[in-house]
Amino acid sequence: MSRIDEYLKHKDDDRKIRLPNYYYVTDLTKPCIRQAYYDIVEDRTFPIETLRIFEAGNILEDYWVTILEKTQGISVLNIQTPAYYIDDDIIIHGRVDALTQHDDNRIVAHEIKTASSCHWMKKPKPEHVQQLQFYLYCLNIEDGVIDYLDKGAFLKGKTIIDLSFPVKKDKEVAEQMIKHALTLKNYVDNKTTPMGNSEAWNGRICDYCLYNDLCDTLPRTNICEHCGNEKDTKIEDGVGRGFTMVCSKCIKFTVGG
Ligand code: SF4
Repeated sequence: MSRIDEYLKHKDDDRKIRLPNYYYVTDLTKPCIRQAYYDIVEDRTFPIETLRIFEAGNILEDYWVTILEKTQGISVLNIQTPAYYIDDDIIIHGRVDALTQHDDNRIVAHEIKTASSCHWMKKPKPEHVQQLQFYLYCLNIEDGVIDYLDKGAFLKGKTIIDLSFPVKKDKEVAEQMIKHALTLKNYVDNKTTPMGNSEAWNGRICDYCLYNDLCDTLPRTNICEHCGNEKDTKIEDGVGRGFTMVCSKCIKFTVGG
């Protein structure tokens, strides 16, 4: 195995080690609670292709911190700052990508995200807003920014390469997340699998889910929208993130004309 892949495997193994009643903020931002549940109770690791893609994102995120450091009026105070919510029942943990001070005045929490293409975005994704809101709540900071980096622009240079969306603290969002964490914990403690939300991401969430082979919510979306038969053929997405199920009869019809 290559040195990088070996390192990535170890890193992912560490991610899987969880203490009881300990949740990550990213468990709470998944649009499908069943996926979050499987992430906790199933001992699965991501395929190496996916880990490589995640790591490319991490490298670019570090690069963005360098850009922030070199931006006039912005001082980077800290990176990967831990943020915790702790009560008698649960611990929720996350890390703020960068804490900065703007114009020697406002403290701002930055959540940095990369995507293969995001230059077209008009607003941040709800799950990213939730993640940042949790940090603002835990650290009692009023201002945040979600910074998006477009990987396609880094490679091809044709589109907007970075986009930033300001976010103001809204404590109700974080409070809802804490309630959601207690619901998830209840399922985990009782060893009960919650219902999935296969409608998320315009019905595409299951295509990218690591657990779609063991999920019985999936068949609801596994019917071909053209002929009504069950989709029977797997098409890999080519970047290691998952696959799409298609109906072999209709894909031939669609592709072949
Ligand atoms: S396959 Fe779909 S419904 Fe099932 S856990 Fe994954 S995302 Fe949720």
